[in-house]
Amino acid sequence: MLISVAVPVPNLDLLTYRVPDDLAPPVVGARVVVPLGTRTVTGIVVEIGGPVETAGGAGERDVKSVARVLDTEAFVPPEVVALAQWTAEYYAAGVGDTIPALLPPMARGGRADAHKTTRVAAITASGLDALDASAGPARVEGRALTVGQRGALDVLAGTPTGVPTAELARRGFASDTLGRLARQGLVSLRQDRVDRDPFASDGAAVMGQIVGGPGSDPTLTPIDTGRDRQLTDEQTSALARLEALTSAARFRVALLHGVTGSGKTEVYIRLSAAVRAAGRRVLMLVPEIALTPAVAALFRQAFGERVAIQHSGLSDGERHDQWQRIRRGDIDVVVGTRSAVFAPLEHVGLIIVDEEHDASYKQDESPRYNGRDVAIVRGQRAGAVVVLGSATPSMESYHNAVSGRYERIVLERRVFDRPLASVIIVDMREAYAAEGPDVILSRALREGIQLRLDRGEQALVLLNRRGFATAVFCRQCAGTLDCPNCSVSLVVHGDGAARRARCHYCNHAVRLPQACPHCAGPYLEQAGFGTERVEAEVKNACPDARVARLDRDATRRRGALSAVLSKFRDGRIDVLVGTQMIAKGHDFPRVTLVGVVSADVGLGLADFRASERTFQLLTQVAGRAGRGGQPGEAIVQTLYPEHYSIQLACRQDYPAFFDKEMAFRRAMRYPPLLSIVNIVVRSRTFAGALDDAADLAQRLRAADAGRDEIRVLGPAPAPLGRLRGEYRSQVLVKGTHRRKIREALQAAIAGRPELQRRVIVDIDPLSVL
Ligand code: ADP
Ligand code: ZN
Repeated sequence: MLISVAVPVPNLDLLTYRVPDDLAPPVVGARVVVPLGTRTVTGIVVEIGGPVETAGGAGERDVKSVARVLDTEAFVPPEVVALAQWTAEYYAAGVGDTIPALLPPMARGGRADAHKTTRVAAITASGLDALDASAGPARVEGRALTVGQRGALDVLAGTPTGVPTAELARRGFASDTLGRLARQGLVSLRQDRVDRDPFASDGAAVMGQIVGGPGSDPTLTPIDTGRDRQLTDEQTSALARLEALTSAARFRVALLHGVTGSGKTEVYIRLSAAVRAAGRRVLMLVPEIALTPAVAALFRQAFGERVAIQHSGLSDGERHDQWQRIRRGDIDVVVGTRSAVFAPLEHVGLIIVDEEHDASYKQDESPRYNGRDVAIVRGQRAGAVVVLGSATPSMESYHNAVSGRYERIVLERRVFDRPLASVIIVDMREAYAAEGPDVILSRALREGIQLRLDRGEQALVLLNRRGFATAVFCRQCAGTLDCPNCSVSLVVHGDGAARRARCHYCNHAVRLPQACPHCAGPYLEQAGFGTERVEAEVKNACPDARVARLDRDATRRRGALSAVLSKFRDGRIDVLVGTQMIAKGHDFPRVTLVGVVSADVGLGLADFRASERTFQLLTQVAGRAGRGGQPGEAIVQTLYPEHYSIQLACRQDYPAFFDKEMAFRRAMRYPPLLSIVNIVVRSRTFAGALDDAADLAQRLRAADAGRDEIRVLGPAPAPLGRLRGEYRSQVLVKGTHRRKIREALQAAIAGRPELQRRVIVDIDPLSVL
């Protein structure tokens, strides 16, 4: 008997193995231990039976045998296995890439202290070339690879995102082996922070208070008494329509388009309760649980023990337990981030995707899937209702709603008819003329913040750019301080003696030099500003204010994020400065002012979604103001006050924005009117990247020859032309039929299989930068 197995190795497709007669035949979804090269790995059975002919054309005799069958029943539910297979195919990834999302976590490496970073080694394009070359005579630039070096490169080739050096040491690769590979440019070493989600510790305490002790029969737990408040009329009719959909128990997608503060969460919870009462289960996806602990807490409150919360901040042990409880059927409601779309939940009747427009649904490594879109496929296969919720729907979802593919349900008013924030636009060109070119907070914003302080209210100040200064340049030679590995300038962080310049892509950091590294000139000037500078400016303008900052730098330390959020909630912070993190889903009733320092940060980017992103961010952040009894105000500073995404966000006019943006997308032939695929080729040389991209483009055109079903743009140097020491080129493919694009892509890559590992394919990219 032959089986097809997915093994957790990047880029690999299904592999065929034989089940020896003395082993019990496994079922789809069971784990099996199989030989792979010189290793043995644990994989998942995806299909029973397999092609008799293996890839190499050899007969069945050459198929290797399964070593062990670990499960007599499906470990992963077969429908989830099928979903993973779909995901791999759709996103042009190896099936193996999806396995980490399917399995409960395995203990990974040592427990590094959360305050520390961990050293990670990753193979470079040159490393991959060297590995390929060493299949023949093993020479790189005149030097042979040692067995150890080859072995290390082999392991690293299997995990392009990198492997902690501690893990490599455990596998017997000496640190000087890595050092030598790094000096030859075959391996890059970087420091990664150890990701810990503070919600795991502090959030648990919050939930503890809300949930109360376990004990009562969970199946009998009624909806919490706090839930029997009166729904608004709009909530009532939205819920009625959604319940009609779920009770039909058929696949349907509904877009719940509700303005900020319209009470979407309440609708989700009541709908979930109805679905659960009908004996089916609920999957609720949220962009980032750490940023919206309140939603998870409300679900806990409503569903007690029968809810599982899945996110990256849980320890491996906790995640493992949660996974097992879901698999056993002890869970009715799963609340989780992107990868929870693969939760082993059966009898799913409802899938909710909250803040469906959010970019964190898209995974930025292979498989580059969008959790929202996979959720829709899962719903379709399960015959479930999928609810996409947002105040600022993605162009894709709204397009589907107006064309009738999705049901559109609208919440136009805030609860208690609270008004949306009134918005004041400050034209910074006027502010510069009046107050000088260095002004960061306009007079209107300074006064607005002071007014909130006087009234004992709170303010949020948004700038979607981290750091203190965003560039350093020399007044003598105009040279800039750039990253040696990436084509970006270094960003200044910290103040005084702690001041350093850091690359936001590879983390390369240097002390701020006294003199220009190019001409030794003594006049180094800082330009541009980020959140750290804004924080300093607010403290400066309002010395009595208690100011804190929320961005990726400020929340690096474990527990810092939820500490800041709860201090702000408790009123121990008056002004919170931050990046888009402060715009997400928070419900702070005492915030009456939202300041946006540079509304146009994102508009400068040459990305087809720049306007959509800007509109969403401004609408969402303005939506954080006035959610309590007091009306809210937003002050938006910009250099382009007439830009439509700023104008219409300020008027909170989504339909007008949609129409305007659709006209642009139509004219420029961009999604949602057609599909695009972004292909990036990495290489150790500029010419190499461009030549290989040109070759791919040529092959794509050849695959389409005479049919005119796809459009191939490029090759061109990628906007981020150099990253971590590698050059990058780009090819963009457009077409109305994704399948045609994928077929052309398969044909093109099949002609250059050795390119596979140096090519990044992004289907339905959220950004082409
Ligand atoms: P959205 O997610 O649509 O921005 P939320 O679900 O966060 O809005 O609701 C906004 C606020 O209104 C929350 O504080 C919520 O508890 C409250 N709320 C929601 N529905 C009602 C209701 N029917 N009656 C009273 N308060 C409500
Ligand atoms: Zn860099």
